[in-house]
Amino acid sequence: MSKFQDLGLEEQFLQAISDLGFETPSEVQEKTIPILLEQETDIVSLAQTGTGKTAAFGFPMLQKIQADSRTTQGLILSPTRELCLQITEELKLYGKYVSGLNIVAIYGGASITDQARKIKKGAQIIVATPGRMKDMIGRGMIDISKIEYCVLDEADEMLNMGFYEDITEILSHSPKDKSTWLFSATMPKEVASIAKKFMHEPIEITVGTKNVGSKNVSHEYYLVNARDRYQTLKRLADTNPEIFSVVFCRTKRDTQKVAELLIEDGYSAGALHGDLSQNQRDLVMKSFRTRQIQMLVATDVAARGIDVEDITHVINYQLPDEIETYTHRSGRTGRAGKTGVSMVIVSKSEHRKIKAIEKIIQKEFVKKDVPSGMEICGIQLFHLANKVKDTDVNHEIDAYLPQINKIMADFSKEDLIKKFFSVEFTRFYNYYKRAKDLNVDASHGSDKEYSKNSVRYFVNVGRKDDLEWMDLKDLIRELTKLGKDDVFHVDTMDSFSFFNTDEKHSQLVLDAVSGIEVNGRKVDIEISKDRGRKGGRGKKGGDRGGRRKGGKDRKFEKRGRKSEGKSDSKFQGRSRRRSSAPPASKGTGGRRRRRG
Ligand code: ADP
Ligand code: MG
Repeated sequence: MSKFQDLGLEEQFLQAISDLGFETPSEVQEKTIPILLEQETDIVSLAQTGTGKTAAFGFPMLQKIQADSRTTQGLILSPTRELCLQITEELKLYGKYVSGLNIVAIYGGASITDQARKIKKGAQIIVATPGRMKDMIGRGMIDISKIEYCVLDEADEMLNMGFYEDITEILSHSPKDKSTWLFSATMPKEVASIAKKFMHEPIEITVGTKNVGSKNVSHEYYLVNARDRYQTLKRLADTNPEIFSVVFCRTKRDTQKVAELLIEDGYSAGALHGDLSQNQRDLVMKSFRTRQIQMLVATDVAARGIDVEDITHVINYQLPDEIETYTHRSGRTGRAGKTGVSMVIVSKSEHRKIKAIEKIIQKEFVKKDVPSGMEICGIQLFHLANKVKDTDVNHEIDAYLPQINKIMADFSKEDLIKKFFSVEFTRFYNYYKRAKDLNVDASHGSDKEYSKNSVRYFVNVGRKDDLEWMDLKDLIRELTKLGKDDVFHVDTMDSFSFFNTDEKHSQLVLDAVSGIEVNGRKVDIEISKDRGRKGGRGKKGGDRGGRRKGGKDRKFEKRGRKSEGKSDSKFQGRSRRRSSAPPASKGTGGRRRRRG
């Protein structure tokens, strides 16, 4: 974080800043002030309300104008009288040590002659609403033919209020070679076209926002084991039959994988990531817009341009690396006055990130339980019942009705309802009847495994070698014949990993592991100085990806003297079979009947 002292501001302004009690520049100030001080340039700066934009343009303008001249050099256009007055007051405070400074506010609903009189005294800076400004220019009360800086503040708002014509008219009285600084919270087409029309090669600045959290979005999280991510995702989809969602994954690989699994399981899903061709991406987006796809699995980068309305749910399959990204994700839903839900599937080691995100979005998450199998069966049944109730009868079936009625002749209405709903219920019931509880208790878990006498090992293989933590744990157990709970705190990083065992097993582990090969690479093992973070997997460890890989094409070969005869273990990472989805059928929202 930089200091105001580093931005290039003169002492008199630093003094004013310190009088105001501002301690550090906000992001938009940090990014904008140095550029505007150093260059004569047009700029487009996108930042939410309340991020300190007034100071971002105010200080550079104050420092650049000549206060000893009475010529009007700066014009600030802003949408409302309130903002006009606010900006004027603020600028006066910023420039309180500048002698001879005269800043005048121009707005409707007040005496035009009073305002004209103030201008006449010589205002270096005018802060105006477009309507009154145009008026006064028309009456020859204001001369802006020599302005050097023009600010369009809250440009999106001004255009919303229909000031396009007035702005065009006003600017036609200003010199061509001035600098134009546009500030806006959003960049709709209209603002982009203003930028194009009135600006010359503007520098663009976008600021990660402070309070983008839409009021209409509620935030939920589901605490599960990392390996249950995918099952959790399916349950969330099954709980929301009408879901229309973007599912965010961290990597292109996971994005592709999750989308493929969903499709395989009968959901209408699609993947959107950078490894697809433009054509493929266009197709996916088209299907999403037309609701052929109900679950769009995407990377953050690829999803950047998505402007689809009515998204009901944003699902964070994994949290983003940069927690700030969360606001962009959740902002995909809850638009245009609609409500939306942002759901996070979170593993224990990431649990603390939820708190950090709450600070950023200034809202609290609701911790929710992953619905049980039976709850989902119930939800699906009621959804079906309501759907049946609301269905318009298709008279194309009339011709078949006599025969159908014959088949059903012996059943009462009650029996028919039972049978009809059983079709759907049984399908879900069979799938979910043995489904386990996916929820994890936040209060216990890996903590209990932690023992004072544990030893932490470092090995030079990791995810690059296709090892997720479960694979590594299996491998270690395979080599050492240690029990399930004897190997713990397994954290796989990209190119190395850690795990713990009790001290008493250390010789066994070192002997068993050193010298083996993973994918043709010799594995080094050392006892690590770090005993491992208490109560959890390492920061990044273990929780990627969730589903463990089949390990079919991996070879772990024991090599070296010690191992001879002891083990020629060809590790076939016993793949956890994904339990298959219930037979897909129509009318179950996220699922669709599979073609072919
Ligand atoms: P915006 O134009 O983005 O809506 P403002 O410029 O009106 O934001 O600033 C919002 C509030 O934050 C104002 O009260 C302002 O005095 C205050 N402010 C601006 N910059 C800082 C800063 N660096 N530190 C503390 N407060 C600031
Ligand atoms: Mg403002």
